[in-house]
Amino acid sequence: MMNLLFPSVCLHCYQSIEKNSGQFCALCLSEFEFIDPRYRCHYCFQELENLRKRVCQVCQKKRHPLHRQAAVFDPSGPILTLSSHLRSMGKAYLTKGASAFLATQFLDLHWPKPDFISPTPLSLSQKIRQGFSHHNLMAQNLSKILKIPVFKYSKVSHEKLRGCTVLLIADRLFSNSPMEHYAEKMLAAHPAKIFGLALMTYPNAINS
Ligand SMILES: [Zn+2]
Ligand SMILES: [Zn+2]
Repeated sequence: MMNLLFPSVCLHCYQSIEKNSGQFCALCLSEFEFIDPRYRCHYCFQELENLRKRVCQVCQKKRHPLHRQAAVFDPSGPILTLSSHLRSMGKAYLTKGASAFLATQFLDLHWPKPDFISPTPLSLSQKIRQGFSHHNLMAQNLSKILKIPVFKYSKVSHEKLRGCTVLLIADRLFSNSPMEHYAEKMLAAHPAKIFGLALMTYPNAINS
């Protein structure tokens, strides 16, 4: 009966899929293509034109509060669907799969193991609109997978950061993002290094 009411369909292409086989059909799952970090700018994670350099021309001219930034996917195909559904209240369970993607890319990046994982705070308007923070859930899931504690920055917890390495989590990576602003704020606590990992690159951000 439940199957008739709620048939299992792929979140992206709406093809029917076997119950309990995940959120995407096999074809859509195969379209999730992990970015190879070797050919990407250390800050914006866009493709490098000159592979002898580690930073693109645009990022060479900027100051960077984060030591490095990376993303798991470029924005095309099913990841766009996943990314927009992550922000819907009833679909918070999707953050588990998203965190597994983050964990896989994190291990591929060979960054140092952070002391803390920290979710990028949402803007007040986004928080009110969504009613929950998908960044929080992603950070909590990732914390369980990597066995690294979650840390939320505040005036009280400020001192705990001194000399520590922090990994910031967000869904989208773009220039002048809330993640960069959050890192900038954190620098006042003198952490050793701040890294930022997002689910996908998002070059044409209109809003966060
Ligand atoms: Zn599909
Ligand atoms: Zn760049």
